[in-house]
Amino acid sequence: MAFRERWVDWTPNFLIRLFASPYVAGNSLQSAMELADALYKRGGVMSTLDLLGEGIRHRDDISAEVDEYLRMLEAIDEREHLTVSLKPTQMGLALDPELCYVNVRRIVQNAHDKNIGVTIDMEESHYVDPTLSMYRRLREEFDNVGTVLQSRLFRTEEDVDRYLNGVQAHIRLCLGIYKEPAEIAYQDKPAMKENFLVVLEKLLEAGHYTCIATHDEALLKKCMTRVRERQLPLERFEVQMLLGVPREQVIRQLRQEGVTVRLYMPYATTWEYAYAYLKRRMVENPHMILYVLKNLFQRGVRSLPGR
Ligand code: FAD
Repeated sequence: MAFRERWVDWTPNFLIRLFASPYVAGNSLQSAMELADALYKRGGVMSTLDLLGEGIRHRDDISAEVDEYLRMLEAIDEREHLTVSLKPTQMGLALDPELCYVNVRRIVQNAHDKNIGVTIDMEESHYVDPTLSMYRRLREEFDNVGTVLQSRLFRTEEDVDRYLNGVQAHIRLCLGIYKEPAEIAYQDKPAMKENFLVVLEKLLEAGHYTCIATHDEALLKKCMTRVRERQLPLERFEVQMLLGVPREQVIRQLRQEGVTVRLYMPYATTWEYAYAYLKRRMVENPHMILYVLKNLFQRGVRSLPGR
C-alpha cells in the first residue's frame, strides 16, 4: 500500500469528514436538493444526486438505500436539471447480483415513470461484467438508464462492442478511480487519458449519448475538439464533474457555449457508508486537505463549502 493510502487509512473518521467536506452536499436529501437547485438557478448547471453508500451486504440496509432512492425520485418530481446516480454494491451486487438487478430495476422503472435519468456507477474491475450485463438488460427495457466506462481498463474499448452493440446507450466516460493491477489496467494517467480519447471516439462513432467526465482541462479541450469536428449536436453529449473540484471558469465557458454541464452531487445519511468514497477522493487529491484547512482558518468550521 502506498504511503498516501496508508495515512488516509489511519486518519480518524471525523477528520475524513472534515477534509472531504467540499465533495459532499450535506447530511440529507434536502441539503443536496437545495445546493443543486441553487447551482442550476445561478449558472444553469445540472446535477446528478448520489446517496453515498457501497459494499452493502445486509438486506435491510440495502432496502433502506432503495427506499431513500425512491424518496429522492419523489422529491425530484419535475426538476429537469436533476438525475440520480447509484452504486451497484449499494443495491446488493456484492451479495446477490439478481437482488441487485431487482432493486435497480425498481428504481429505474420508478424514475422512468417520472422521466428522470438514472446512472449506474462503475466500481472495481471485478464488478464490470455484472454491472454491464445488468445495464444491458435494463437498457433493453428502459431508455432512462445509463452507466459508466473507465478508460483505465484495457478492456473498455471492447466493452463498447460487447455490451452496447445494437442499443443507444447513455455512457459516462471517466478514467476510473479504483486502483487496478497492471495486468488489466493502465498505471499512468497519460496512458489512461490517451485511451479516454480512443473510447470517446468509439462511443461517438456508435452514436451513444456521451458524458465526458474529467477535470483535466487539457483532456477536456481535446474531447471538445473531437466533438466539434464531428459537429455533434449539443443534445448528444454533456460534460460532468465532481462537486468540490474547483472548475468554475471552465464550467462558465462551457455553459456560454451551450454545453450541458452536470455535477456529481453526493450526500450522506449514513456516514459509515460514505467513508470509502471520501477516502478515495483524499488519496487522489491530497491538496484538497490544504484547501479545507485554509477555509477553516479563514472562515471557521461552520462555513465550510458544501455544508
Ligand atoms: P486527473 O488527472 O485525476 O485530474 C485532473 C486535475 O483535476 C488534477 O490535476 C486535479 O487538480 C483535479 N482533480 C481531479 N479530481 C479531483 C478531486 N477529486 N479533487 C480535487 N481536484 C481534483 N470513477 C469511477 O471509477 N467510477 C465512477 O462511476 C465514476 N464516476 C464519476 C463521475 C463524475 C461526474 C466524475 C467527474 C468522475 C467520476 N469518477 C468515477 C472518477 C474518475 O474516474 C476520476 O478518478 C476522477 O474524475 C479524476 O480524473 P480526471 O479525469 O479528473 O483526471
